[in-house]
Amino acid sequence: MADPLAARDTENYQQEYVQEFVDKWDELIDWDGRAMAEGSFFIEKLRELGAKKILDVATGTGFHSVQLLEAGFEVTSADGNPVMLAKAFENARRRGHILRTVHADWRWLNRSVHDLYDAVICLGNSFTHLHDDNDRRKALAEFYATLRHDGVLILDQRNYDALLDHQIQPTHNYYYCGENVRAEPEHVDEGLARFCYSFPDGSTFHLNMFPLRKHYVNQLMREVGFQRVETYGDFKETYRDTEPDFLINVAEKA
Ligand code: SAM
Repeated sequence: MADPLAARDTENYQQEYVQEFVDKWDELIDWDGRAMAEGSFFIEKLRELGAKKILDVATGTGFHSVQLLEAGFEVTSADGNPVMLAKAFENARRRGHILRTVHADWRWLNRSVHDLYDAVICLGNSFTHLHDDNDRRKALAEFYATLRHDGVLILDQRNYDALLDHQIQPTHNYYYCGENVRAEPEHVDEGLARFCYSFPDGSTFHLNMFPLRKHYVNQLMREVGFQRVETYGDFKETYRDTEPDFLINVAEKA
């Protein structure tokens, strides 16, 4: 078998999200538990910013797209992985919604998305799938371009600074609150965070991700043109002593 730690390519996500893993994803992220943990952070933030028309660029199985639709936002759901998009469509339909889906890789988002949005959301530790600095800049520039002149990007990442600096074991946190599902870091260095997800039936899956540092993400966002970037910890306005599991960046274009 090839060295799993050598898989540091932006295209990896297409092989990592295979049908079996996608089917288990909702077991992993348990929608009800997640909704309780997140509360209405994103909904309130988007309302506060006056956003109505939202592009979810990392739809995954559709959790945020559905939540925002139910809160009355106009939502378009994009993802680069067709298996994920199909799952999201099915999940939404079961809840009485028809998702407006777009199959698009972030790096070429504007080939497929021709509209302008009040907000782009990229949530659930998704941006971490880009393994190359250029790809990150390209993706952010594509997000920027699809926003209205005063639009906002909301993008989150796991608190990798804590993981890199203190080798903190991430707690069983907000996004992975499905019961009996373990998400553990197997390997961490400045260029790779390899996580193992194990399910009660004994099956395991891996994701190789790039450990995004807070300062770096903030700087990238400013460099592509966002004027104001604010970072929140674990869906709360302030964080100080205790390390948050997730960091949420709110980047304003104007
Ligand atoms: N936002 C969802 C959630 O919170 O449950 C899904 C998160 S999942 C960790 C990451 C998603 O990003 C996957 O659905 C994957 O297909 C998508 N993705 C990763 N890299 C991508 C890329 N370069 N272009 C488009 N989508 C990508």
